[in-house]
Amino acid sequence: MKKIRLGKSELMVSQVGFGGIPITRVSQQEAEKCIHRCLEHGINYIDTATGYGDSEEKIGKAIKGRRDGLVIASKAPPTDARFMAESIDKSLKRMQIETIDLYQFHCIKDRQGLQKCIELMPVMEKAKSQGKIRHIGITIHGVDIIKPIVETGLFETAMIALNFIVREPLESAVPAAVKHDVGIIAMKPMAGGHIADASLAFKFFNGMDNVVPLVGIEKPEEIDQIAATIEEDEKPDERELAKMDRIRSESGDQFCRRCEYCMPCPHGVQIFPITIYESLVKRLPVEKVTDESWKKMMKTVENCTDCGRCEQKCPYDLKIREILAHSAGLYENLISK
Ligand code: SF4
Ligand code: SF4
Repeated sequence: MKKIRLGKSELMVSQVGFGGIPITRVSQQEAEKCIHRCLEHGINYIDTATGYGDSEEKIGKAIKGRRDGLVIASKAPPTDARFMAESIDKSLKRMQIETIDLYQFHCIKDRQGLQKCIELMPVMEKAKSQGKIRHIGITIHGVDIIKPIVETGLFETAMIALNFIVREPLESAVPAAVKHDVGIIAMKPMAGGHIADASLAFKFFNGMDNVVPLVGIEKPEEIDQIAATIEEDEKPDERELAKMDRIRSESGDQFCRRCEYCMPCPHGVQIFPITIYESLVKRLPVEKVTDESWKKMMKTVENCTDCGRCEQKCPYDLKIREILAHSAGLYENLISK
């Protein structure tokens, strides 16, 4: 697989990277199979976080004896100096490695978050001088803040949500990143599962020589088709571009990206996956979306007190309460038939 340069970090990474969240849902053995299959495809970039459950431990065991040539990235939220320094040490220990190639400030949503990163930059610089990390990046959850962050020139890489549905960053943030030589890592290339066609989702990135999309897999074979799409390196044709446009206009901007930042609800509402109910109804047989587990989940919507806390936590400004009510209505409609 072709390698691209990740901005001024000068890290040379494969055209697609491995995202470490889904392996938290499978056994160590299955996680290793996924990682090893990715390595066989030439993927050399592995991204994880202190906050991703046992992902770092699983990755550490999987890459034992295979560290050479890999670019390992992790991240932690900029809570305070002590937390940041301890997180770096924790990541090193969990992955049993000497140095982390890219360490990122995790989940920055606004200017206060950016300010916190600037305050904590000396902690990262110290870790860099100690050889614990090699490069400093940032992960951004919020469309409006991407451009101001990359324009600071302080970060070598920026991870942003980018796919053919949420493509606003392509017009503003990506050109700004190119100008400041910031390497872009694209999270949610399949819009958190909203895009069902993996081939189409990854074809969107072909030809973008400064963007590395991440893929998370739970089964080794899931990477095969994606790797083939990336390796073919063909740009989408007219028909595929039209399909992307159609999916984009059907989706609007009020769709759930499955990040679960809105969880937990203090009143026990099972916000996610109720927020993706409509897309599941379109794809699955009716008996699957009206079974006992959905009955229980939909019942929790009655506990909603309208406090709005979930909406404050959603990085995509979704009107969660409206979506919950819409999903519950859809469910009632289905079971009444
Ligand atoms: S608005 Fe409803 S669903 Fe959201 S956090 Fe409050 S109680 Fe929970
Ligand atoms: S509603 Fe928002 S915060 Fe919750 S999972 Fe969906 S996108 Fe994430």
